[in-house]
Amino acid sequence: MRKRILAGNWKMYKTAEEAKSFMEEVLSKVPVSENVEVVICPPSLYLSELAQLTKDSSVGIGAQTMHDVKEGAFTGEISSAMLSNSGVNYVILGHSERRQYFNESDESVNRKVHAAFEYDLTPIVCVGESLEERENGKTGDKVAGQVKKAFEGISQDLAPKAVIAYEPIWAIGTGKTATAEDANEVCGAIRTTIGDLYDEKIAGEIRIQYGGSVKPDNIEELLSMQHIDGALVGGASLEPKSFLKLVEAC
Ligand code: 13P
Repeated sequence: MRKRILAGNWKMYKTAEEAKSFMEEVLSKVPVSENVEVVICPPSLYLSELAQLTKDSSVGIGAQTMHDVKEGAFTGEISSAMLSNSGVNYVILGHSERRQYFNESDESVNRKVHAAFEYDLTPIVCVGESLEERENGKTGDKVAGQVKKAFEGISQDLAPKAVIAYEPIWAIGTGKTATAEDANEVCGAIRTTIGDLYDEKIAGEIRIQYGGSVKPDNIEELLSMQHIDGALVGGASLEPKSFLKLVEAC
């Protein structure tokens, strides 16, 4: 049985005060459950403080991106070693906004997956198709290609520890959710790709989230699907009340 994982991606939102008060409220109300892993991915500026605040709690902290080398002359970047050293446990890699606006490629995502594992971070690897790709029947090829490249050179031991987030680009921040059936179909195809790369056991173990306009009123249907093990949530993770409803639904 795969443990569910709910992650809130705050993107570039919240002041320092808002970040702290969100976390204090959520920590005081979040149900402790064996069945769900809860993760918040704030802007990088707040990672250390929130990691400190949550360190004895059931809430994990994730970065939204990172560089793929340990250290170096890369102005503005942070590394997996730094994240790990600051108490961060997860990192989102290859989010479509990073791919679109910051030239993230399948190759750099692959290097970052290696770097994440090197420093004991759990990578949340994002994949997903554009509207045009979906309309042209290219969803399967696109997503399988992204998954294959992201996992290149990743060992059998590490692969099942990764999380994959299927986020169709056209559903992000648009209010358009993929139907639960469509999302499940793609998540099932991702599982098959992992099975082809590794084996059935690993395919059965790896956790796959859905992301794209997930809200308290649609999460239950998504989670009822066979291949969907959680959600990566943007907008609806910003308010404690709505985030806690999502946690409860898991
Ligand atoms: P929304 O939930 O705001 O659509 O964002 C999804 C997302 O990009 C999470 O990473």
